[in-house]
Amino acid sequence: MLNADLIYYSFYIFFTITILTKAILLFLNMKNIKSHFNQVPAQFQDHISLEDHKKAQNYTLSKNKLNLTSLFLQAIFLILWIEAGWLDLLHQSLTTQFESTIMTGVMFLISFSIINSLLSLPESIYGTFVLEEKYGFNKTTPKIFLVDMIKQFALSLIIGAPFLYFILKILYTVGPLWWLYTWFFIMAFQFIMIWAYPKFIAPLFNKFSKLDDEDLTQEIDKLSKRCDINFKDYFVMNASLRSSHGNAYFTGFGKNKRIVFFDTLLKSLNVDEVVSVLAHELGHLKKKHIIKSIIMSSAFLFIGLFILGQLYNSPKLFEAFSLSTNEAYMALLLFVLIAPYYTFLLTPLMSWLSRKNEFEADEFAATHASAKKLITALLKMYKDNSSSLTPHPTYSKFYYSHPPAKERIDFLKKFST
Ligand SMILES: [Zn+2]
Repeated sequence: MLNADLIYYSFYIFFTITILTKAILLFLNMKNIKSHFNQVPAQFQDHISLEDHKKAQNYTLSKNKLNLTSLFLQAIFLILWIEAGWLDLLHQSLTTQFESTIMTGVMFLISFSIINSLLSLPESIYGTFVLEEKYGFNKTTPKIFLVDMIKQFALSLIIGAPFLYFILKILYTVGPLWWLYTWFFIMAFQFIMIWAYPKFIAPLFNKFSKLDDEDLTQEIDKLSKRCDINFKDYFVMNASLRSSHGNAYFTGFGKNKRIVFFDTLLKSLNVDEVVSVLAHELGHLKKKHIIKSIIMSSAFLFIGLFILGQLYNSPKLFEAFSLSTNEAYMALLLFVLIAPYYTFLLTPLMSWLSRKNEFEADEFAATHASAKKLITALLKMYKDNSSSLTPHPTYSKFYYSHPPAKERIDFLKKFST
């Protein structure tokens, strides 16, 4: 059933569909933003000035242009890796260095990811120091940027190398059911990371201090009681170190569960608004959205590993992409590279599910805090983050994890009478 031609041609069909769809969606969005450039949408005229609106439109256009460039660069790099023999070249340069197959595999995968992140470095530098800088959001200095990069690199060696080593160990020793064991291993690893992230990893990049605003702490305690949730600690993160974009989230589980506010958010919202934003986040927790998304991504991982389990030692896979090796770690990497193109068309479905959860969390916030305050908080956040109020409807349906401004505020208004 499986043959090399089928793998090869189906990949390039899905690859072309993905790139074209992404490009068309970006063009549509930019066109829509340009055609709504000179006027604030009627509903927002009392809250957003024409100047702020124009800034948001320009900012979104600049980001979309950068996305378009990076879309084509990524496509070119993928072709170079697969078609121009870069994968083979990298592999050959490593095979003579190590005696053990597993060590060669680990080094191969790590070298690949280092080269890949170096290839995307210009885009990341441009995004931070040109684009974000131009619109006044960037607070990162070249020094912080460099130190962050070194820390990320060290972390990916310290955590990533043993992680890959274990996966390859399973792959090379367990036999045909390796994919199932690997699934269990990755699941366990994910839970350890969710637990460890707030306590051990996030503090490497940001300072977390306890919230010391008494009024706010009191109001949050009241809200937690109303929602029947116990949080021991509220933290403020110095997000302003890198960027002026605002946010709030919670993280960890068990005793490490904590609420984190960006200092940038606390600066722009008043107490009642922060409480409504927090109520929205608690809505996600109470409606079990986080558990559901973990279950769903575990199911996807299971399916993906199962498919890889059937493919990894099939000579057809290597033949399809004319690779000179048939090592299992090469199959692993190839799979990670090509799979996203086969699943891209699921994006609108996932975005729709996410927006459905956002409406549920908004409804929770509207019933446990104030819908009116959530609306004013959102308006401030749209303004502060320069979010465009006029995305193309198809673009927002395809990608938006949150309902577009107009829909979201219309929905909340139903509760704010
Ligand atoms: Zn949300």
